[in-house]
Amino acid sequence: DTAYLNGRFLPLADAQVPVLDRGFLFGDAVYEVIPVYTGRAYALADHIHRLDRSLRSIGLADPLAPDGWSDLVNDLIARNGGGDMAVYLQVTRGAPSRRDHRPASATGPATVVGFCQTRSPIAESLLEQGIAAVVRDDTRWARCDIKSTALLANVLLAGDAHANDANEAILVRDGRLTEGASSNVFVVSGGTLATPPLEAAILPGITRARVLSLAAANDIPVAQRRVETGELRAADEIWLTSSTREIFPVTRLDGEPVGHGRPGALWTRLRALLQADTHD
Ligand code: PLP
Repeated sequence: DTAYLNGRFLPLADAQVPVLDRGFLFGDAVYEVIPVYTGRAYALADHIHRLDRSLRSIGLADPLAPDGWSDLVNDLIARNGGGDMAVYLQVTRGAPSRRDHRPASATGPATVVGFCQTRSPIAESLLEQGIAAVVRDDTRWARCDIKSTALLANVLLAGDAHANDANEAILVRDGRLTEGASSNVFVVSGGTLATPPLEAAILPGITRARVLSLAAANDIPVAQRRVETGELRAADEIWLTSSTREIFPVTRLDGEPVGHGRPGALWTRLRALLQADTHD
């Protein structure tokens, strides 16, 4: 496994950052996860654009130019043998000589990290069955549009879901659906497809955007609108989207079947469209 750390490629096991690194101390860092299909990064420009947006949101200068990011991603893919995988990138505000909350105390260079992780193809049997999810209060902060590594709430929610034999926690805030603990959420209800609109409470998912444009290109109406918790619970179909889960049907919600308890017809269509898009 070859990783990248501050301008150098080295074995992942040897890639180490100082204890005073602000990513370690404060989660003062942003990241991206980019899916790779047969050696090709999917939606790479969109991921780099979002990374740039995250960096600007936390007032951190981009340590690499856009071309630098795509070269780095392609280099990591090549050095790790290509195939199906995910590239992880992280930028932290660096490692100053003392712990201090104030971001201005970090005057040195940012820390830039990249590595690859294998991504096994999603088992068709799991897709046919769909996954279970639980509904939970969205306990995260108010700027979930920033892809920050400060993920303690998401981590606890993932553990809570797992402890309840579920694969994802679907989050509600002020009586409305926001997103999953590590995914965006789509619902089919009353014959229409909907997903919550982009706002500070949710991450602007790359897969979400792709699904929206694939739907539009194929004359499948989809609304970006608020979804009340009651509508979520009564939905005919629920899907999760993310770079690693692609588009995944949720067939049980808090132990109750979603719709008829099997992946729905509209999911089947969008899944095929997304498959064609990731593999073209
Ligand atoms: N929402 C959250 C909280 C996430 O962590 C993720 C990604 O893992 C997503 C949504 C989906 O985003 P993307 O499709 O860009 O992977």
